[in-house]
Amino acid sequence: MLNARIVGCEACPRLRAHSKTVAQMKRRAYLDWEYWGRPVPSFGDEKARVLALGLAPGAHGSNRTGRPFTGDGSGEFLYPVLHAAGFASQPAATRRDDGMKLKDLWITSVVRCAPPGNKPTTEELRNCSHWLDEEIKLLRNLRVVVCLGRIAFDGLLAYEARAARLTSRAGFVFAHGAEHKLPSGLMAIASYHPSLQNTNTGRLTRAMLLKIFNRAGKLAGCEEFGMRRGRDGRD
Ligand code: SF4
Repeated sequence: MLNARIVGCEACPRLRAHSKTVAQMKRRAYLDWEYWGRPVPSFGDEKARVLALGLAPGAHGSNRTGRPFTGDGSGEFLYPVLHAAGFASQPAATRRDDGMKLKDLWITSVVRCAPPGNKPTTEELRNCSHWLDEEIKLLRNLRVVVCLGRIAFDGLLAYEARAARLTSRAGFVFAHGAEHKLPSGLMAIASYHPSLQNTNTGRLTRAMLLKIFNRAGKLAGCEEFGMRRGRDGRD
């Protein structure tokens, strides 16, 4: 099982040390938590047609809870949007065992261990890239990738280059809402990352992110999409 291998990965000494240190030190508000402190496995529906690709685990978010975007401000912004768009069974993501189920969506990131300052090095991004290759290979129904932030967008282009399909990045420009048909046949949609830096400043609003995921569902041809839009998922 791929996630079991990811959880045991030790390829980046700096990131492994940082994740463990954060897990031992803890934040005051989470002193009663046993932090995850390991590489964070991906999460979702193995039959997903849409992939949400993030940057890396948050130190006190998924590095604490062990599930992508769970337990921090980014997730508090993202999951209600996923729920409204019909991809998530509930709006609140608080812990691994909170009952959340995803439909037609898989969530992963280009780096799977919490980096200091949310900034992985080029080498760490490279180390972690083969996990993305393996995941995309396993997601046989995948059609659309929502890239949450520029680094995720670059990570997807790097995947396309590794797969020997993309020879030039010319024309593949990151901009919120930009759509790119990739040589592999996947469709990429770029979005600002739902970090507090973006959401607290209004650079990324709920309506903007909802529009992205509604569009992803539509492009992916999700069967239930008409029903999904019956919630507050109108764009
Ligand atoms: S960031 Fe990726 S490659 Fe590096 S140790 Fe974590 S899981 Fe392994």
